[in-house]
Amino acid sequence: MATLGNPKNTIEILQKYKFVFQKKFGQNFLIDPRVLEKIVDASGVTAEDCVLEIGPGIGTMTQYLAERAGHVVAVEIDANLIPILQETLAEYRNVTVLHQDILKTDIRAIARDWGGGRPLKVTANLPYYITTPIIMNLLEQDIPVDTITVMVQKEVADRMQVGPGTKDYGALSLAVQYYARAELVANVPPNCFMPRPGVGSAVIRLTKYQTPPVQPKDPDLMFRLIRASFNQRRKTLQNGLNNSPDVPCSREAIAAAIEKLGLPAAVRGETLSLKQFADLADCLSDT
Ligand code: SAM
Repeated sequence: MATLGNPKNTIEILQKYKFVFQKKFGQNFLIDPRVLEKIVDASGVTAEDCVLEIGPGIGTMTQYLAERAGHVVAVEIDANLIPILQETLAEYRNVTVLHQDILKTDIRAIARDWGGGRPLKVTANLPYYITTPIIMNLLEQDIPVDTITVMVQKEVADRMQVGPGTKDYGALSLAVQYYARAELVANVPPNCFMPRPGVGSAVIRLTKYQTPPVQPKDPDLMFRLIRASFNQRRKTLQNGLNNSPDVPCSREAIAAAIEKLGLPAAVRGETLSLKQFADLADCLSDT
């Protein structure tokens, strides 16, 4: 089987199987070998590793990963791609294709059964319509994962990396930065995909922390404060938290906590750093 990472071989296999792209599955296949090399290099995969690939498509990146990894488990939702993957990956003994929805997949079982209990390396050109739930699931659940190297929309990559005071800063930035170190690997233009997406893309690598950079007594309360602040971005922190049914604190307790942190009474939540949200949670969990 010829390698797929170029337009000619990709078109050939798509035509052979009369494959029709499904927009609802976020199907934009990579056709640029340099970008594929870059993702696989950045993921740092070695023969010791078990890789979880989300959405292998026709198996283009899977072939690159299989050359380097101990084992690759590729989870694909589209039934029409399964026979194609059987052909394109036929010569790789170290690849397992699962026909499943990644949001319903037992990833812990994959690490146990194929990864020998070692943390997985996750690599993917993600379906953009479910980028956030996939990443948050990998970060928040107690799943053994050490790095997540993924293609996402450029705008989402920006949101993951920025700090307070920028328009992209939000609940996703804080959640990602609590669980992982985020690094931009490459910006990728639409012409590297077939069909071309309507947005710019970027490869981002998240390296999961062993210990998060802040340790509030009640992380769940910290995340409720963060969500409440950004759900009502235009409001002051005080009003955003008062109005939220998820924040179980009195108006007085919230005002006192804001004052104790040395913040102005009319401060907006979007100006607080992760450390300040952690401190706020600690003040409020004592009340
Ligand atoms: N990895 C291939 C590549 O780079 O050429 C395809 C990437 S394409 C952006 C996203 C892939 O994810 C598609 O193959 C799509 O069918 C698959 N997909 C979409 N939703 C999925 C889900 N919920 N679970 C598993 N795979 C999914």
